[in-house]
Amino acid sequence: MAPLTCYWPRAIIHIDMNAFFASIEQRDFPELRGRPIGITNGAVGTTLITCSYEARACGVKTGMRLYEARRLCPAIVQRPARPKVYAAVSTRIMRVLLDISPDVEVFSVDEAFIDVTHCQRLHGGLEHIAQRVRQRIHEISGGLPCSIGVAGTKSTAKIASDMQKPNGLTIIPPWEARHRLAGLPMEKVCGLGPRIAEFLSQYGARTCGDVARLPMTVLARRYGVTGKYLWLACQGKDTEPVATGIAPPQSVGHGKVLPPHTAEAAVIEIYLRHMCEKVAARLRRYAMQAGQLYVGLRLTSARSSRHHEDIVQLFMLPYGPPDGRCLFDLALKFLGRRWRGEAVTHVQITALQLRSASGQLELFPAADGRATRRFSAIDRINLRYGEFTVAPATLLERSTMPNVIAPAWRPDGHRQHIPD
Ligand SMILES: [Mg+2]
Repeated sequence: MAPLTCYWPRAIIHIDMNAFFASIEQRDFPELRGRPIGITNGAVGTTLITCSYEARACGVKTGMRLYEARRLCPAIVQRPARPKVYAAVSTRIMRVLLDISPDVEVFSVDEAFIDVTHCQRLHGGLEHIAQRVRQRIHEISGGLPCSIGVAGTKSTAKIASDMQKPNGLTIIPPWEARHRLAGLPMEKVCGLGPRIAEFLSQYGARTCGDVARLPMTVLARRYGVTGKYLWLACQGKDTEPVATGIAPPQSVGHGKVLPPHTAEAAVIEIYLRHMCEKVAARLRRYAMQAGQLYVGLRLTSARSSRHHEDIVQLFMLPYGPPDGRCLFDLALKFLGRRWRGEAVTHVQITALQLRSASGQLELFPAADGRATRRFSAIDRINLRYGEFTVAPATLLERSTMPNVIAPAWRPDGHRQHIPD
């Protein structure tokens, strides 16, 4: 046991709100407390965005279709998501963390990292700081459960917060990290997804300890900087800093889940057009232009609804005022080339290689003046009267599903926006 006066060279806290959306529903509707509940996108949603611990106890998981969840847990109560409420609660929580340390990274709507390296002395020890974080979150959120991990790196702190849920506090001192991670499945490391795990399993690796024993070059040669990071993270030695502030966006994307067994071209096209218009409107709103477009479809295999195949394509885009119609033309091209009538479960449109449009517009004011004026009029109307008040006629038949709060949502800046 280390003496109390021992300060860590780096100290990171990770907070994870437990079953965040479901916990908010149970907080606000006492009749839901103690009951299995599943949150869906609106009352018509068929996929679980998340579920309460009572539902998880029956084997229900995030991402499951509602009918599957009902089979496992007949008592499950479906609740429509209330993204604006969740965003408001999240904002209050994130602000309160700034009372503890100025170095807060909002990692997702319900997760954050706090760098407390420099306030270890100030607040009287890390366990004390962690308890204070919990107490402040408890007060500000009306008693929502949260689990906390404390470690010497972000990656280890995130693993620690996952060890005791709900409401746990797990502290992994830097000198114990390698040993405590050694027996864990390597997939516990954030960023080590199924593809990398499959690659590593060829070398006999299953746990973090196994990965640590491989030469670093095995990962670095295949995955470059990311590979090196993962190798270090498996030993609790990564040095990733807590990223305060909001990084400039690298992508703007929208996706949607389709009703089960959707295989009609006209319906799929409406979903794609809808996402293209959303992406274009958001690019315009933040004065950005895109140099590349990602179009993706998730297909359900004919054999089983559990098997999925993703088909994707990247298109180069000429920089210019973002126009949903142009994006949609590329999506149609993709559909014509790659889609063979399979059932589609998910569509995704993401703009990449973003750059700020402001400089460009000043440089060539005449070139795209008309288009720019037209879009700015449409966007002003939609901002005031609601998304898609003015929209292409095909979108009259679009899905009326409410928008889900995106994992990339942030309390400030360009990611704050939750359309109605
Ligand atoms: Mg969570």
